[in-house]
Amino acid sequence: MALQIAIIGSGLAGLAAARILRVHHEVTVYERSGPDTATGGQGICLFPNGIKILQAMGFDRDRAGAVSCHGYRTFDKDGNLVKDFPVDFKGKYGADTMAMKRSDFRDELLRLATAPSEDLGIQGSPAKMVCDTSVVDVDPDEGLVFFKNGSSVQADVVVGVLLTNWYDRKTADGKIVANGVHSRLRHRIVSSSCQPKKNGMTCYRVAISAESVKEALGYLPEWWDPRTADSRISTLIAGDGSKRMVAAYPLRHYDYMNFSCLFPTRQDKGHVLDSWFADGDRQEMVDTFNDFSYPLRKILDIATEVKVWELQDLDSLPHWNKGRAILIGDAAHAMTPMQGQGSNMAIEDADSFHLLRPGISRDEVKEVLKQIDGIRRPRTARVLRDTRAMAKGISMDEMIANLDFNCGYNGVFEG
Ligand SMILES: Cc1cc2nc3c(=O)[nH]c(=O)nc-3n(C[C@H](O)[C@H](O)[C@H](O)COP(=O)(O)OP(=O)(O)OC[C@H]3O[C@@H](n4cnc5c(N)ncnc54)[C@H](O)[C@@H]3O)c2cc1C
Repeated sequence: MALQIAIIGSGLAGLAAARILRVHHEVTVYERSGPDTATGGQGICLFPNGIKILQAMGFDRDRAGAVSCHGYRTFDKDGNLVKDFPVDFKGKYGADTMAMKRSDFRDELLRLATAPSEDLGIQGSPAKMVCDTSVVDVDPDEGLVFFKNGSSVQADVVVGVLLTNWYDRKTADGKIVANGVHSRLRHRIVSSSCQPKKNGMTCYRVAISAESVKEALGYLPEWWDPRTADSRISTLIAGDGSKRMVAAYPLRHYDYMNFSCLFPTRQDKGHVLDSWFADGDRQEMVDTFNDFSYPLRKILDIATEVKVWELQDLDSLPHWNKGRAILIGDAAHAMTPMQGQGSNMAIEDADSFHLLRPGISRDEVKEVLKQIDGIRRPRTARVLRDTRAMAKGISMDEMIANLDFNCGYNGVFEG
């Protein structure tokens, strides 16, 4: 008999889990915001470990406007090429690395979770989405989920409970935002104290259209123009000890470019940016990089939607699972974007739900969730450790070893 599965949160982790679980089980996803929540227009990179799993789910790269990336290029702040590091991701790890607009990626995951089964060529029923429904508490032992409106459900089995933030944090225009890093519900599963920690860096993020840049500059810089960029992820580095850098990669068939602009957090800001959807101050971003080359300055100057985020992560948790509940995604293993592995880990988590095999009984669930915990936690702990090391600076050999470890993963059955 199919398990009744309640997933809390329709972020990247929740939707990927819904796609895996819908084939053999009855899945309901509870989302505190609307159906198009938590997207943001900025970019996200999926590496071969995530892409291999996504492809097995029927992921359509064209719908997601994904651009393949074939390595890295470093430039100085004047735009001179310092290093080219080509990587044949597909040849080496079995799939491309792809960059996407975050909103396009989530839309594609939403399709995979909720489209009619015949459209996807799979068995089972679409996951049911229940939006504008905040979860305020859970009882992991009984599998109970409690909502803000006073109601509750008891899933036959509650699996993959994605316990994320339910703070009423608002942006300047009054939108409620939430993300997986700040999870108060996490404490229902993990009793020890676990709070996200800032790593001292702040990141401005913008996605800018090629059209607007051509209008403003009359051309695309060589690290953007598809004829010269060679599908690299580009990093422009200040190189003056100030730790300022800008990572740029193409989105939506090269029509957009994501810019992640990193610099040490200014203590004088006097406010805490706990949500990665917080609106940023474009002028501050422009001023921070005002000694970089003209094209970059000009590009940042025409940015319209500026987001800002103080980078933070979570120490490895002692366990992710209690009774019938399990944490996945950022609620379990938030990490900074220095390796671009956060959502890749969430996709791997989702893949591990294949272990909730068809015909599994309600009584067997607790053991399987423990098994998933035992498989996933050590791997994400290593990726977290490497991501922290990367922020401090690592050698090229270490970087290649990290890529091998991250990208070489082939899913829960093959490791
Ligand atoms: C600047 C930046 C750049 C990044 N770049 C990359 C990258 O290139 N590659 C990569 O792999 N990762 C990247 N990441 C990490 C990646 O974005 C996260 O790992 C990923 O979004 C985690 O997904 P999630 O589903 O766990 O959480 P979220 O995406 O935060 O989703 C949580 C969902 O739960 C909902 N929710 C919250 N509380 C409740 C509640 N009480 N009841 C109901 N619903 C609720 C929220 O509304 C939201 O929809 C980046 C992160 C940042 C900040």
